[in-house]
Amino acid sequence: MRPLAPTKALQYIRSLYAHHDTLLEEIHESLVIANQPIHIGPEEGKFLQLLITMTQARNILEIGTLYGYSTIWMGRALAPDGKIISLEKEEECVHRARGYCDRAGLGSKIEIIQGDAIETLKQFSNASLDMIFIDADKISYGEYLNHAERLLRPGGLLVADNTLLFDSVYEEEPTEGIRQTTWETMRSFNEALADSTRFLSVLLPTKEGLTLAIKH
Ligand code: MG
Repeated sequence: MRPLAPTKALQYIRSLYAHHDTLLEEIHESLVIANQPIHIGPEEGKFLQLLITMTQARNILEIGTLYGYSTIWMGRALAPDGKIISLEKEEECVHRARGYCDRAGLGSKIEIIQGDAIETLKQFSNASLDMIFIDADKISYGEYLNHAERLLRPGGLLVADNTLLFDSVYEEEPTEGIRQTTWETMRSFNEALADSTRFLSVLLPTKEGLTLAIKH
C-alpha cells in the first residue's frame, strides 16, 4: 500500500528540517519501485539523529534494515567511534543496504547481519547497547522486546516504530487486515513498555506511532 501524500504541515517540516540528499532519495525511490515504501519518514530519520546526538549513543542495534534508509540517517549522526549493527532477513535487502551504506561512506560503521533476527539476537549476550531501534515484522515485537530489554544497558534507549499498528492497537478488536495475534502482540508490547518499573517511556502519536523508552 502506497502511503498517502504528506500533509502541507509535513511538507513544510521536511522542507526546513529533513531533506533527502540524492542517496536517500534514490533509496526511497527504489523502495517505491519495489512496492515497499515502508521506511520511516525523513523527519523521523532526523529525529533519530537528534536522539543519537542527545544520548551520545555509540553502540546501536537496528532490527529491520530493509534498504538501509533509517540506518543511514542514524549512521550520519554517529560519533567517530560509534557502530550500528543492523539485522535483516532478506538477502536482496541486505545486498542493497550494504551497497547504499558503502556509498554513504558508512561501510565501516554499519554491520548488517543477514538472517532471522530472533536467531541472531539469541547470540548476543552483553547488556551493553546504548540504543535499539525496532522497525520490523510486527508479529515478533514481543520477542524483540524481550531481547532488547536484555541487551540494553541501564539507561539505554529503545525506539520502536509502528506501535499504533496502523490505527488498530487501540481498537477493541483488530481492524481489517490486522491479524489477531499481531494485534495481541502489539498490545502486550505497549503494555510492557508502559510499565514504569521497567521503563521511562512514551508512545509518540506519529502517523505510525513511535515509542521511546529508557530502560531503568
Ligand atoms: Mg516502520
